[in-house]
Amino acid sequence: MANIHEKCAVFGVYNGKEAARLAFFGLYGLQHRGQEGSGIAAANGRDIKIHKGSGLVAHVYDENILQSFNGAHIAIGHNRYSTSGGSGVEHTQPVSMRPDLVLAHNGNLPLTHLMEDYLLSHDVKIDNLNDSELMYETIYHQMSSRRLSLSDAVEASFPLFTGAFSLLVMNKDELVAVRDGYGIRPFSFGEYEGGQCVFSSETCALDTVRARNVRDVLPGELISVSARGVETRRLVEGSNNLDIFEMVYFARPDSYLYGQRVNEIRRRFGERLANTRHIDADVVVPVPDSAISAGEGYSETSGIRLRQALIKNRYVHRTFITPGEHLRSSMADMKYNILQEVVKDKRVVLVDDSIVRLNTAPRLVRRLRENGAKEVHVMISSSQIRYPDFYGIDLPKQSALASFSMSDEEIREKINADSLTFLPYDEMIAATGVSRDQLYTGCFSGEYPIDLGERVNEFKKII
Ligand code: 5GP
Ligand code: MG
Repeated sequence: MANIHEKCAVFGVYNGKEAARLAFFGLYGLQHRGQEGSGIAAANGRDIKIHKGSGLVAHVYDENILQSFNGAHIAIGHNRYSTSGGSGVEHTQPVSMRPDLVLAHNGNLPLTHLMEDYLLSHDVKIDNLNDSELMYETIYHQMSSRRLSLSDAVEASFPLFTGAFSLLVMNKDELVAVRDGYGIRPFSFGEYEGGQCVFSSETCALDTVRARNVRDVLPGELISVSARGVETRRLVEGSNNLDIFEMVYFARPDSYLYGQRVNEIRRRFGERLANTRHIDADVVVPVPDSAISAGEGYSETSGIRLRQALIKNRYVHRTFITPGEHLRSSMADMKYNILQEVVKDKRVVLVDDSIVRLNTAPRLVRRLRENGAKEVHVMISSSQIRYPDFYGIDLPKQSALASFSMSDEEIREKINADSLTFLPYDEMIAATGVSRDQLYTGCFSGEYPIDLGERVNEFKKII
């Protein structure tokens, strides 16, 4: 199986004649979840058209392409971000290997042997298929061999899917949304007046297409939309274990998770960080964009004024053009420029949301000092990331995680900061506003809600 870790976005629409155009704008609103490729599949009741390409949503589609979808009443779309799978277009979704079935997946299935056994026992070839393609083949086989409807085939396949998935599947008549029984990746359900339905990885894209946010797709729930209307089924009782990393870094601040604005959750991370350690400083500088909310919370609680001093070039993205070896380090420097007048001769509190491989913090501290900062205190609005992720966030293996191999003091020395503070784990949980058992905290705690089988050998527990 191709080893792909994807953190992605899915968006689906049913009804109307402009489903593909709505999917385009939905994907635009979910661009932050994946910049490496995008695809839309749309059906007009007779056939399904698909368009996919590498790079940003704005690059992949144009007016002609959207017009070629005119009349479509069902559409699903996908934005892709992957690392270890390579940036080749061959795994760009939606998956469409056979006639009249298309699938888009956000999440990751760390164990695939149930699907593999099922498919092999029915003589289906599985060489080089990734987790999403295995799901596709399983659903397809259930439909074609047992003559099941799309939603019945998804229901029959569901027990073979072990991992995280917010999944959209369509044929020319029906759109099906289904979410794993732990609700690890977000998935929301919206509608328009008159019953058009929309599914989106995050609520922010419902706002983009002016749909009403109705509710989450529940863990273990299947929702199907067709000419018969909307039908919902609960496939397993399920539990809520949303990935806390959505709150820390991944989701857009204007999205809602568990009914709370992500911006507010992040402000509380910053407030608790300020209460964790008092620093005498002159200015709070957040790392844009993901640490701005936490920086505001930190500033308001500590009473130290917030100033922007790092200006981010918002157009530096991972693209299908690889930078080449000697450009790679300057890509990171290209991403931020420093407003020297804000930090010169100042004691600076630098607020970022996380430390992963330790690429960002050393560079920023160095450049703040080059620009005259007298002291640099690094404040991280999450706790130490010590464990790998298996469910669809793009984190490296454990040995590459800074807080796995180094103590906080070793990291502080390495980044040349005057102090380094992480938000303690319990404070981070308290700031989310939901209880520990409603979250998946694997990368911080090493605790995983779904059995990992032999993959538990991929990490060491630190006591
Ligand atoms: P590090 O530089 O320590 O490897 O990663 C931490 C920095 O990367 C933080 O500024 C954080 O906002 C950002 N970050 C955290 N997770 C991700 C991710 O999955 N992708 C990208 N591009 N940046 C991330
Ligand atoms: Mg960042």
